[in-house]
Amino acid sequence: MASKQVVNFGAGPAKLPEEVLLKVQKDLLNFKDSNLSIMEISHRSTEYLKFNDDTQAAVKELLKVPDNYKILFMQGGGTGLFAAVPLNLMSRTGSADYFVTGSWSAKAAKEATKYGKVNLVLPKTDKYNDIPDPSKWKLDPKASYVYYCSNETIHGVEFPYIPDTQGVPLVADMSSNIMSRPIDVSKFGIIFAGAQKNIGPAGVTLVIIRDDLLGNPSPFCPTILDFSIMAKDNSVHNTPPTAAIYVMSSVFEWIRQQGGVEGMEKHAVRKSQLLYDTIDHSQGFYCCPLNPKIRSRMNVPFRIGSVNGDEALEKTFLTGAQERGLLQLKGHRSVGGIRASLYNAITYKEVETLVQYMKEFQELTKK
Ligand SMILES: *Cc1c(COP(=O)(O)O)cnc(C)c1O
Repeated sequence: MASKQVVNFGAGPAKLPEEVLLKVQKDLLNFKDSNLSIMEISHRSTEYLKFNDDTQAAVKELLKVPDNYKILFMQGGGTGLFAAVPLNLMSRTGSADYFVTGSWSAKAAKEATKYGKVNLVLPKTDKYNDIPDPSKWKLDPKASYVYYCSNETIHGVEFPYIPDTQGVPLVADMSSNIMSRPIDVSKFGIIFAGAQKNIGPAGVTLVIIRDDLLGNPSPFCPTILDFSIMAKDNSVHNTPPTAAIYVMSSVFEWIRQQGGVEGMEKHAVRKSQLLYDTIDHSQGFYCCPLNPKIRSRMNVPFRIGSVNGDEALEKTFLTGAQERGLLQLKGHRSVGGIRASLYNAITYKEVETLVQYMKEFQELTKK
């Protein structure tokens, strides 16, 4: 147990379920009766290879992944995948379509321009507070793939649907909302997620890839980012981040016990609703500038005092939150304000604690 009761609303690395941390602590010295720690055991041992297969099977079960997909455990984080995606797929036609709905997809699009032509599907903007209607999309039928970020962690824009790409392979960065809702995997070419937001610690990136997209890497694709090599060698081509994968597998087990991704979705809807209702019923004291239709269930950015935020008031709010053990609520340095991340491990009760503080802070400020 932490020495002081705190709630970690950080955007990533983020809160892990306490049950998982306690289990990992208990297992740390003895991995699967090997008398060795997960950090000490060979990734080519029988125990590890079985564990590797079981962890892939857990992903397949939780997300109902069809048989024609491979599960990979890669390194390099979400950022590594920004390069890996074009390095593996761009050579098909030399161009790709990118939805830019916030900082992370903007970074991915920028990285991709190193390897081919990037078409922007949406009109350019620096205010990421909505997703334009499909009638405004410019999709190119000759694109190698269509890329989007299903949840923009910094701006709080979450797609409430899967974009229709008219048959062009769809690639999704799900780093900050994977396993927070059921998804129809068969609609995707590639799904990837850095683990440290919703499913584990930093160090491992989960990749789900459809078989037919393997086998066309650029000649200069680094081995470590080559999906085909990683798939052929079952994610043990080189040393995988074994300890990070172990914690992630324990999170999968925990999600399963909580009713799977269906359970996570119900939980996410309740928690985010409570916070958005508090913001929307505060008579403008708290402001969330996003279109309610695309507001994220995972990352809730808001301002205090006005749409542009009263920075002094926000500072006071954050200091008071810190004193109460409500931690890591500061908005990303690029946007300012407040951001509460409500990932899978955050409980409803913890959101209630935040909402209680918000109401008290508003009362106190009015006086
Ligand atoms: C955090 C994040 C990334 C970057 O992940 P790194 O592991 O730090 O490279 C990419 N995409 C999204 C949506 C993120 O939230």
